[in-house]
Amino acid sequence: MTVEGALAHAVLTWGVVPVLWGCLYLKPGRCLWLLFVFAGAASVHSFSYPSGPWLDLLLHWGTYGLAVLVPFFFVRAQKTLAREFAKKQAALHDQRTKIQLAHDAVHREKSDRQEQLERLQNRFALVQVMATKLEAGEILQTLGHLWRKRPGVKGCLILRRQLNGSWGTSFTDGHFNVQDWLRVLASHPSMARSRNIRRYATPTKQLTLPGQPFALTCLLVPFTWDKDILALGILEVDPAHTDESTDGFNIERKIVSIGLRRADLYDLMTERSRFDALTGAFLRRSLMERLEDALRKSHRYNTPLFFALFDIDHFKELNDRWGHLAGDRALVALANAVRTMAHPGISLGRLGGDEFALVFELDSVKEVTTWFDKLRIYVADNPLRERETLVRMTLSVGISSYLPSRPPVSELMAQADHALYQAKRAGRDRVVVWQGPGTAAVTGKK
Ligand code: GH3
Ligand code: MG
Repeated sequence: MTVEGALAHAVLTWGVVPVLWGCLYLKPGRCLWLLFVFAGAASVHSFSYPSGPWLDLLLHWGTYGLAVLVPFFFVRAQKTLAREFAKKQAALHDQRTKIQLAHDAVHREKSDRQEQLERLQNRFALVQVMATKLEAGEILQTLGHLWRKRPGVKGCLILRRQLNGSWGTSFTDGHFNVQDWLRVLASHPSMARSRNIRRYATPTKQLTLPGQPFALTCLLVPFTWDKDILALGILEVDPAHTDESTDGFNIERKIVSIGLRRADLYDLMTERSRFDALTGAFLRRSLMERLEDALRKSHRYNTPLFFALFDIDHFKELNDRWGHLAGDRALVALANAVRTMAHPGISLGRLGGDEFALVFELDSVKEVTTWFDKLRIYVADNPLRERETLVRMTLSVGISSYLPSRPPVSELMAQADHALYQAKRAGRDRVVVWQGPGTAAVTGKK
């Protein structure tokens, strides 16, 4: 065999293997073509073989067949493996997606629970404030801070209904203009009477000021008791949050309504325990508190302080002749007369029956006696009208001074009482200033 023949032989026999493998990988169709080309070339080459073509042909074709079949099966096995791998990968991916979804659900539930817990904790804080605080303002401020932290709440304004029907601001946070809202409430009275939570949103239900629409989404949360509106919460909310939030606001408004009612009752009780129902003057205990405060101040700053007891002369007779209702009217008239003439530094108390007391933070005894003389003359000159008859009243007054001797409260009161007794004994309708034991000290004038 020549060198060229041996080279062609080697190429035809062994070169075909990588070529066919390459073709099979790149494009299986091209491989068959090359197989035919190699087979043809091998046939021609074989017939030029002197030793007979058949063995050589068998050898070549067998080689080509093996060269195609081996990669063919190899590729098929590889494809099967790849298919199985892809299937497993898809299954794993599905499983991973499911786990991810489950994880997301757990995460969502966790944050829901966390939010619920936070809400419950806040409510608990609110209930705690209500249980310990009796001041409506404090309760409403706690609620305002709680609401302000809630997701979706952009601003919060809480108005408290005053006894005279007007609104006072208890809490404000956000860009609320309280005056604007007071005007809104004045121009929409039904809004302030609503007993349920109302939602105002553009464009269907929109709030308007006279001539000026409010482009806000708002919740109006009334705090009610029976038919009374105790307070009104106005919340500017994110439109996306309005639906979910109504329930939460409802529970809190019920809790807070109870707290406000309790605060109102407490105020009422405090007022009843401090003021006389008939005359509106301080009751004995409150007057004593004020007297003690005034004494401390006088003691510390060396400022003058006077205590006076005064009493209607022959009040019993007035009662007996004109009846107790007339007597009551006389007591009210006297208290009103004191209030008409009162100025800062004077506190009126009713100690019982027709006996009243006054704490004076005035400058001199002269000022005090002048003031009482004016009161005495005013009362005498303005008789009560009972059954077309004018009923004249006179007063007796006893005054004691804290300075310069600085006696204790009991002593100061005893001195005023003694002076009052002297005024009665001296003929009534007069003012007596205590000036020391055993002295008559009548300085008032009849
Ligand atoms: P004096 O000039 O010495 O003060 O004689 P008086 O008649 O005013 O005597 P006194 O101050 O002791 O009388 C008190 C009377 O006031 C006795 C009681 O019936 C009457 N009284 C006490 N509380 C009330 C009340 O709330 N309303 C009425 N109408 N009368 C009362
Ligand atoms: Mg009397």
